[in-house]
Amino acid sequence: MAGEPQADCLFCKIVAGEVPATVVRQTETTVAFRDINPQAPTHVLVIPKAHYPNAAALAAAEPRLAADLLREAGEVAAQEKVDAYRTVLNTGSGAGQTVFHVHAHVLAGRGLEWPPG
Ligand code: 5GP
Repeated sequence: MAGEPQADCLFCKIVAGEVPATVVRQTETTVAFRDINPQAPTHVLVIPKAHYPNAAALAAAEPRLAADLLREAGEVAAQEKVDAYRTVLNTGSGAGQTVFHVHAHVLAGRGLEWPPG
């Protein structure tokens, strides 16, 4: 069923506390934790606790939860005390998605070039 935890999903295991992570914020519906391989001084991943493979699937099924994700990205930035940050939602392996549980990267603390690589 849509949104249900998936046994083979790394981020579902982080939500369940079965895989350790450095959690920086948590709400009823979301978890934010530091990326294990940070690409910037601040690199936090914000995920919904419910399992959806990507942002489009999440927004189609639960638009309010998609909004929670983006609001939490802003809350992470505020908590990290950064005024400029980049939110990245990779969709599909060709775009660099490696974990198929939707996550918003929050990147900050260094110059971020445009266009991204
Ligand atoms: P994607 O490439 O799917 O957009 O992003 C997946 C992110 O998850 C990568 O930046 C990667 O470093 C991070 N990641 C992969 N495995 C783990 C893990 O076990 N713990 C944490 N905290 N981050 C992970």
